[in-house]
Amino acid sequence: MKVVLEHLTKVFPGRKGRKQDVIAVNDFNFEIPDGMLVGLLGPSGCGKSTALNLISGLEVPTQGKIWFGDTDVTEIPPENRGIGLVFQNYALYPHLTVLQNILFPLQNLKGKDKLPKDVMLERAKKVASLVQIDELLDRKPGEMSGGQQQRVAIARALVKTPNVLLLDEPLSNLDARLRLQTREEIKRIQQETRITTIFVTHDQEEAMSISDLIIVMKLGVVHQIGKPQEVYDDPHNLFVAEFLGTPPINVFYGTVKDEALYIGDEKVLSVPGISDQDVYAGIRPEGFILDENGPLTCRLKNVEVMGRDISVISTHGKTKTDKDIRSIISTDNIVDRSSGKVRFSLKPHKVHLFSFETEERLYFQNSRSERHYED
Ligand code: ADP
Ligand code: MG
Repeated sequence: MKVVLEHLTKVFPGRKGRKQDVIAVNDFNFEIPDGMLVGLLGPSGCGKSTALNLISGLEVPTQGKIWFGDTDVTEIPPENRGIGLVFQNYALYPHLTVLQNILFPLQNLKGKDKLPKDVMLERAKKVASLVQIDELLDRKPGEMSGGQQQRVAIARALVKTPNVLLLDEPLSNLDARLRLQTREEIKRIQQETRITTIFVTHDQEEAMSISDLIIVMKLGVVHQIGKPQEVYDDPHNLFVAEFLGTPPINVFYGTVKDEALYIGDEKVLSVPGISDQDVYAGIRPEGFILDENGPLTCRLKNVEVMGRDISVISTHGKTKTDKDIRSIISTDNIVDRSSGKVRFSLKPHKVHLFSFETEERLYFQNSRSERHYED
């Protein structure tokens, strides 16, 4: 089922005269296509949970509408929206077994929705098998790992075959290994069921790795929507560029003069079509080419060999945050450490320029990726 948000807005009023209003969700206007897994991504406090709670009906919007397919659900209470919810803290009933926990939402159905016992049992067992906890049905939540408990929570959210599955930071309580494993599981379950799913996270790597589409937001505002690779390759502003990618993009203070980008005194790249101005120059780690005659000179700090790649760590006086510069080059290269310097030339499509004033992207010829995206 597709989900359409129309000027959806949530304002939390400030407390009496002391605090300002918070616009937690600011004019959300987009469509989540049927059957997709969508990652809602942004830093802590940016309004992700509020957006999810509006979609589920746990919060009432200040303005705007929510559609599930052709139905306006804005006024419909959460229990009648056909949603499945999963939160960070599994919220299982500790005194009930796994099976009883999964059955619970079905046993609560009233009137014409009521199901016969054997049908309930069959459905509970089916979702238990989908999330691979068939062996654990008699256990209590306290007797299981975090990952297993979260699977039970997912099974419980799926047992009523919801139209939309909403997951709010479902992996945050798991340790690193389980987090990886469980996110693969969620991807698999979503692909098998094809239930439209919204997955909230502050972790860009998590969102990038499992989403068909990501929505990047900050301070209540959507900054970009696209396929993960598209958003990574073609960020629309500095925030999005800095938020996505490990290691992160390297941001330099630059100046454009006569269609050339300067970092310090060095003329590092031709940027046809950009007028003279100060810019932020973001360079992805994979955008550097080790080149003894290259135009960009950095101070060499360290070289880390990581199997396939070499990570060259250097510094430069013109970086935005005084952070080290991380460049990733192939192991075919040999880094000469003797001079204490390292020189690079740059791959144009891995260099993103942003207006110094607005932080919006400035496109130059060759600045778009050559990659073609499938629909
Ligand atoms: P996230 O899930 O991205 O961390 P939230 O949606 O929880 O962000 O919060 C977004 C903003 O709304 C924050 O500034 C938060 O303090 C504020 N907020 C959330 N819930 C309430 C509430 N019930 N009352 C007042 N302010 C709230
Ligand atoms: Mg939250």
